[in-house]
Amino acid sequence: MVTDPQITVLGGGIAGLAMSIAASRRGFSVELIEQAAEPGDVGAGIQISPNGAAVLAGFGLQDQMLKRSVTGQGVQLREFSAGHPVTRLNFSKYNHRYGFHFFHRADLVALLAGEAHRSGVNLRYGERITGVTSDKNGIVLTSHRGDFRPRTLVAADGIHSIMRPLIDPAARAPEFARQVAWRAVIPNTLGNAGIAELHMGPGRHLVHYPLRDGHYRNIVAVEERAIWMADGWDHPEDPEMLRQAFRDFGGSVPNLLKSIHHVNIWGLHKYPVPDRWHRENAVLIGDAAHPTLPFLAQGANMGLEDAWTLAALLSAHELSVAFQKFSEERQSRCRAIVDAATKNGGYYHIKDPVLRFFAHSGLKTLGRMAPDMAMKRFGWVYSHDVTRRYPML
Ligand SMILES: Cc1cc2nc3c(=O)[nH]c(=O)nc-3n(C[C@H](O)[C@H](O)[C@H](O)COP(=O)(O)OP(=O)(O)OC[C@H]3O[C@@H](n4cnc5c(N)ncnc54)[C@H](O)[C@@H]3O)c2cc1C
Repeated sequence: MVTDPQITVLGGGIAGLAMSIAASRRGFSVELIEQAAEPGDVGAGIQISPNGAAVLAGFGLQDQMLKRSVTGQGVQLREFSAGHPVTRLNFSKYNHRYGFHFFHRADLVALLAGEAHRSGVNLRYGERITGVTSDKNGIVLTSHRGDFRPRTLVAADGIHSIMRPLIDPAARAPEFARQVAWRAVIPNTLGNAGIAELHMGPGRHLVHYPLRDGHYRNIVAVEERAIWMADGWDHPEDPEMLRQAFRDFGGSVPNLLKSIHHVNIWGLHKYPVPDRWHRENAVLIGDAAHPTLPFLAQGANMGLEDAWTLAALLSAHELSVAFQKFSEERQSRCRAIVDAATKNGGYYHIKDPVLRFFAHSGLKTLGRMAPDMAMKRFGWVYSHDVTRRYPML
């Protein structure tokens, strides 16, 4: 076991908060540094699959998870022009004790922040790390309280991690994935069934599902684009631009788009998973270690798995061994998920109408003949249970 019981977590997103809970449950004294003034998150939905839900249940949050999310029952695939059904992927076919959950991100962050607080984590909101260096004695962080040396640093500081370049100077720069995503939350008029609707069109797709007892509906719309012009990675956009981009989509889509008054657009970027995740007394987790395209809805789920795994390894091994085992175990799984998510994006966007017709007909037939096959394809993602691999004794 790591003999020094103090851990500093940088970043209070889903991975950092989960890490702070997991580490405090294993007997560490934890401080968490987050630049935001208080827990919060962009107004958007997030899907937690059984592999992530296992970690929430492991924290004793199963009841809260059920209370604060809509239980997912499946995904209905539709063709774009009239919204006709193509096939349905039933989550129930994929029998798993923890299930699928549609959360408002702010609710999931609040749930984790509340639990971190109850677990005795020292939550340092409103503190931004502005510099990182290292010397033979380890990592030095700089914030408004000056320079300080964390004993063990877990960097969960997201896709633009300040720690990643220090830990892996060879990490390659992100590449625009030639796709943009709009995200919006609107009042829901389509009922509370836990079905995610996925409309597949040429070069575009749109997903929507209910949130917060069905009072709201989360919308994610993705379009292929040759270039990303904006300075930043995401910014607010005129909803009219989204309506224009999806003007030939039928079914429920036009009415959904009509109700959007605020929308943000993201330039989606591909990041090769870096080879080095740790250095001296610091390690990367969550998006800081393995940013992913959103087409398998696994970014936050991987962050939850990371947190549970790292805390367990730190409680069983000395620091360098724990970091090494963590990287070896997690890199292969996270690389496989990131690759699968990248490939998944293209399946929905077939441009050639003839190819699309045959692809959709194939999906319909498959849905009739072997309804659970598509879900089983990703069984290796969803059935992974880190709480069984590393039980809390
Ligand atoms: C369109 C879209 C849809 C998605 N849908 C899903 C989904 O359905 N399911 C899913 O599992 N994933 C989904 N994801 C991915 C998921 O949102 C991310 O993988 C996940 O939120 C990453 O969590 P994190 O804690 O690693 O990083 P972040 O959420 O980015 O948290 C990092 C935290 O660190 C803080 N921070 C950063 N730098 C500093 C600093 N210098 N000092 C102090 N604090 C700092 C930030 O303020 C932030 O709070 C989606 C992503 C996109 C773009």
